[in-house]
Amino acid sequence: MSISENFLKVRKEVPEEVTILLACKTRTPDEVAEVIAAGATDLGNNYVQEAEEMVEAMGDTAFQARWHMIGPLQKNKINKALRLVDVIQTVHSVKQAEAIDLRASRIDKVVSAFIEINSGRESNKSGIDPDFEEVKRLAGKISECNNLKLEGLMTMGPFLDDPEEIRPYFRITRDLYDQVRNLNLPGADLKYLSMGMTDSYRVAIEEGSNMIRLGTGIFGPRA
Ligand SMILES: *Cc1c(COP(=O)(O)O)cnc(C)c1O
Repeated sequence: MSISENFLKVRKEVPEEVTILLACKTRTPDEVAEVIAAGATDLGNNYVQEAEEMVEAMGDTAFQARWHMIGPLQKNKINKALRLVDVIQTVHSVKQAEAIDLRASRIDKVVSAFIEINSGRESNKSGIDPDFEEVKRLAGKISECNNLKLEGLMTMGPFLDDPEEIRPYFRITRDLYDQVRNLNLPGADLKYLSMGMTDSYRVAIEEGSNMIRLGTGIFGPRA
C-alpha cells in the first residue's frame, strides 16, 4: 500500500478525536508532501536540523501542517526550533522551560508545550520522572510563562516487543495527565495526551491517548 493509503486506513480505524502525528525522521520531502495531501495535519521531527531541511525543501506546503518537535531540544537549537515548530513535546525541566520562554518572548511567539514523561524511568531516555510532585512543579512553571502554553503530556515508554507490556507506562502517564488537568492551572489548556507509536498505538488509545505518533506504520521501514 502507498503512504496515503496507509494513512487513510489508520485514519478510518482510530476514533476521530485522536490526532495522528506523522514522525518524519529519515523521510523525504516528497513522502511528507504525499501524507499532507492525504490529509495529515500534524508532523513531527526529532532534530531541528531535519526540520529545517524539510521546510526548506517543501516550501509553503510544509506549513499546511502543524510541526511538532518530538526529539530532545538542546539549548543552542531553541531559537531555530521556534521558527520551525508550533509545538514542543519534549519539555522536561524548569530550566529548559525558562530558556524556551525567554527566546519565544524575543520573537513574540507563543509556543505550545508538552511535558515529556520518562514513564519507564530509563536512564537512556529523556523526560521528567513520573513523579507527580515534580511534574506539578514543572507544569506550574510552564503555566506562568507568558510565551509557553501548556497543552499536553507526552511519553515514549520502554521499547518492548509486546505492546501489552507497555500498557502500565501509558497508564502511569494517563494518571499524571488527569492529575495535572485537575490542578486547573491558569494559562494552561491541557488537552493532548501524546502516546503510542506504530506497534503500540492501539494499546495507547485504550489507555486514553488522543495523539498517536506514527512513523514506520505509515511510511514503511526506516533505512
Ligand atoms: C520515530 C518516533 C515515533 C514513531 O515511531 P514508529 O515506531 O516508526 O511508529 C514516535 N515518537 C517518536 C518520539 C519518535 O522518535
